[in-house]
Amino acid sequence: MPSSTETLATPELIAKYEAVIGLEVHVQLATRTKIFCGCAISFGAAPNSNVCPVCLGLPGALPVLNRHAVELAIEASLALSCTVNPKSIFARKNYFYPDLPKGYQISQYDQPLAEHGFVDVIADGAAAKRIGVTRVHMEDDAGKSIHDGFKDSDRYTYVDLNRSGTPLIEIVSEPDMRSSAEAYAYLTEIKQVMQYLNVSTCDMEKGHLRCDANVSVRLRGAEKLGTKAEVKNLNSFKFLRLALDHEIARQVALIESGGRVVQETRLYNPDTDETVSMRSKEHAHDYRYFPEPDLVPLRISEAWKEQVRTQMPELPASRRKRFIADYGLSEYNAEVLTSTRAMSEYFEKVVAASGDARAAANWVMGDLSALLKDTGKEIEDSAISADHLGQLIALIASGKINGKLAKDIFPKMAAANEAPEVIMQREGLESISDEGALGKIIDEVIAANPKQVEQYKGGKQQVIGFLVGQVMKASRGQADPAVVNRMFKEKL
Ligand SMILES: [Zn+2]
Repeated sequence: MPSSTETLATPELIAKYEAVIGLEVHVQLATRTKIFCGCAISFGAAPNSNVCPVCLGLPGALPVLNRHAVELAIEASLALSCTVNPKSIFARKNYFYPDLPKGYQISQYDQPLAEHGFVDVIADGAAAKRIGVTRVHMEDDAGKSIHDGFKDSDRYTYVDLNRSGTPLIEIVSEPDMRSSAEAYAYLTEIKQVMQYLNVSTCDMEKGHLRCDANVSVRLRGAEKLGTKAEVKNLNSFKFLRLALDHEIARQVALIESGGRVVQETRLYNPDTDETVSMRSKEHAHDYRYFPEPDLVPLRISEAWKEQVRTQMPELPASRRKRFIADYGLSEYNAEVLTSTRAMSEYFEKVVAASGDARAAANWVMGDLSALLKDTGKEIEDSAISADHLGQLIALIASGKINGKLAKDIFPKMAAANEAPEVIMQREGLESISDEGALGKIIDEVIAANPKQVEQYKGGKQQVIGFLVGQVMKASRGQADPAVVNRMFKEKL
């Protein structure tokens, strides 16, 4: 990665300052059709194939609001602890862009869908911190300008309007974050919540989750906010962190050298790890917002809101707490096991089938995760069902198999989608804890290893490990080591 050509402040200088960060997050709602017309939403369709007079912005075409989009937006707002307003107003945000054929975006302005929410985040190992959510509003997406990839891209820009009219929500935070780590944690939480709700896939590579940041710095202890710059194009978690750290260092260096930060929009360039000035920041009045005359106010009754609320699943934060309280999991394990809704649901099924939460956590985070990683699969498509994994754990608990045999049976379960007990019986992989059968093997091992037996009798306790190992080997791993240990001690 080429290094930055800008002057950046040293860590010592940066430490004198405090960053103030607010995020604007765009989330694409997972509807089947667009927000104001019936065109399908599909990624990768032939350019300009999913379009109609409404999303092409043809004169006289009338928008009709998509009810499903509103319900997803309500779910998102409730999950972020926002107050959903009984009445909100769509507004035209006027600006010209080749991929915006209407000449305006339909958004919400002074009367948004929802306001006054919050997200609790944990960053840098500190205690949970509450980040305010100023508002959640609905809007439509513009089309896409494609500046490269064509033979004549040096002379032409291509426009694809398939994306035009895709439903979005914009989640605007308060300027409550003080580091790139907090911003990272906030965006992570938003993504996780939206995915739990199935409000959005949040696939950043497809642009389903996009993020802009407002960044300013001030001397530690200062009350007054510094001038903020908006940084755009933070379209991966990695870029979010890099771009914020870069922008903070740039602003500190500027102030320390006697300059001043100007209010502008800067674009993050991941190739050079720099932010570059794009345009001086426009103000709300530049957009000449006014109420959209083609849409009636959006009214959301208490009853509708409550009906949407009852459809919502348990959210990750509450699930994490419940896993710690009910299953005795550590914070770390609870976090990993609730990282996706599918993961947490799988884990709970394993617990139900095995009756052992700790063992379930170990198997899901250990062998199962390794298997998924090796096979490149998500847990939803796991080759081993949660029931089968639970049964395997129950077989260990009942003493029918030991840990070693379980590790032998596990890959066979993945290969054949069979219950562990079926594999165990067919392949004769049961634990031998029968004392008669074990006694015979133990006697053979004692006879074959007189030297070690002498050592043990002479007080060298650790030799028992070697002898138990010989029995395990002779029994092809099927002996129950606890029983073998006890029997050796009795015999010698
Ligand atoms: Zn359309």
